[in-house]
Amino acid sequence: MAKTVWVDTDACISCGLCVSLAPEVFKFVDGKSFAYDPAGAPQKKSRNASMAAR
Ligand code: SF4
Repeated sequence: MAKTVWVDTDACISCGLCVSLAPEVFKFVDGKSFAYDPAGAPQKKSRNASMAAR
């Protein structure tokens, strides 16, 4: 089953790690990371970047 990535913007401290690891998935919006294209990278890459976001 496909999983989707998302960002808990309340918990985001704007470190930029997820954006630098998977810029095709994450970008900053109003200073917080946003998963603008959850399917923009292979699932493993998106998962690794989202794990960094925790
Ligand atoms: S890695 Fe986490 S804290 Fe850093 S910008 Fe991404 S969501 Fe925010």
